[in-house]
Amino acid sequence: MKQYKDLVAKKVLVLGLAKSGVAAAELLHSLGAFVTVNDAKPFDASPDAQGLLQKGITVICGRHPEDLLDEGFELVVKNPGIPYFNPVVADATRRGIPVWTEVELAYLISEAPMIGITGSNGKTTTTTLVYEMLRVGGLQPLIAGNIGTVACGVAEKATADNVIVTELSSFQLMGTNSFKPHIAVLTNLYDAHLDYHGTFDAYADAKFGVTRNQDEHDYFIYNADQPTVVAYAEKSKAQKIPFTTKGRTEVGASADDVAIYWNGEKVVDRADIVLPGQHNVENILCAIATATLLGCEASAMTQVLATFGGVRHRTQFVREWQGRRIYNDSKATNCLATKSALEAFTSPLVLLAGGLDRGHSFEELREAMQHVRVSISFGETGMRFAEFAKSCGVEEVIVAVNVEDAAAYARKLSQQGDIILLSPACASWDQYESFEVRGDLFIEAVTKF
Ligand code: ADP
Repeated sequence: MKQYKDLVAKKVLVLGLAKSGVAAAELLHSLGAFVTVNDAKPFDASPDAQGLLQKGITVICGRHPEDLLDEGFELVVKNPGIPYFNPVVADATRRGIPVWTEVELAYLISEAPMIGITGSNGKTTTTTLVYEMLRVGGLQPLIAGNIGTVACGVAEKATADNVIVTELSSFQLMGTNSFKPHIAVLTNLYDAHLDYHGTFDAYADAKFGVTRNQDEHDYFIYNADQPTVVAYAEKSKAQKIPFTTKGRTEVGASADDVAIYWNGEKVVDRADIVLPGQHNVENILCAIATATLLGCEASAMTQVLATFGGVRHRTQFVREWQGRRIYNDSKATNCLATKSALEAFTSPLVLLAGGLDRGHSFEELREAMQHVRVSISFGETGMRFAEFAKSCGVEEVIVAVNVEDAAAYARKLSQQGDIILLSPACASWDQYESFEVRGDLFIEAVTKF
């Protein structure tokens, strides 16, 4: 860990606990800051707050006092989930107090170079692919973000021999000030999280925070197939590395129907890649560009691509059973994600879908439903999805009780050569605590086939 002195004796408010708040509070405390944490959860119900108090950190729980900032705080570190219109955050901004997220802290203390991966879709998959390639290539990577530990926890332990591969949401990037990753990756940009950011421009601005502080010694890997991204990329001061899925190019990472290329040279044949789907080609291009820039051997990359079947719950290959290939895409909680998954396959599909009813339409899926032979839907949208599937001309349409019941139907109704795919196009909270629980139950059920 770098000896970062600027925080010694600084009065810092950590807003919102959870994993990132706890890690930030502990780190700030160890750096010599005077830390106060504030969280809405009552103290008695918060083991996190109790643990921090024992370490000598001031804890204000169960409410957000309006006059909180009168205490003379010089810095606020907020949980990425807390919006900027939160009264305390808005007050801090008004008073000119810097508001960071823990990623900024991670950057300031890290001895290891950081790789920042962001985008609307594909962050976790790309982050995992990069991590795996560097691991197999012997480059001692550490992973931070959704999977693994929060960034400042990882940065604390990292040495100059490591490289930190971190997944970054727009929420985390918004609060960055000096964060400057050696390699920044932007997978793609779609309308998302507009409830939080307000406008697409504000969302895009937050995402481009990943390259804002970069200079000519750094790299920015970006999606050259998206005009909005290209327009923003022009402003980056880093060395620009484009990627495209629209055919072989001489510069950057590219793909055609046959292979993946780096600066026009073949890296791997498409036939030797396990990860299914056109959408994953984008993620693979980002990963090979990052790994190559870090000096990873091509053999390490091809080895990973020949074996990596996807991150758990993200079009994850589960098993082959009597000529059926089974995939778990429980993370697909909206139509766009399910559409990508459906388009990843050309064989007949047995689709398991449905879940929380947000009143959203499934129309976006219509074209992609052409290969679906059997639709088995469940949960709050079970009936509605069944009607939609019928209107798409799906041969057999079933309504099941839950994901396990749906798996039992899939066993009965599938044929040799089919793909059995759980890709719900809905959130899980009507029946399950999380999409992970839903996916795990599916895996358990199909493993018993
Ligand atoms: P994120 O971390 O950005 O949410 P994930 O890698 O977890 O992304 O993938 C979530 C889902 O999004 C996947 O199951 C897949 O359906 C879809 N997806 C993944 N990568 C892409 C991409 N590059 N373009 C479009 N959709 C994608």
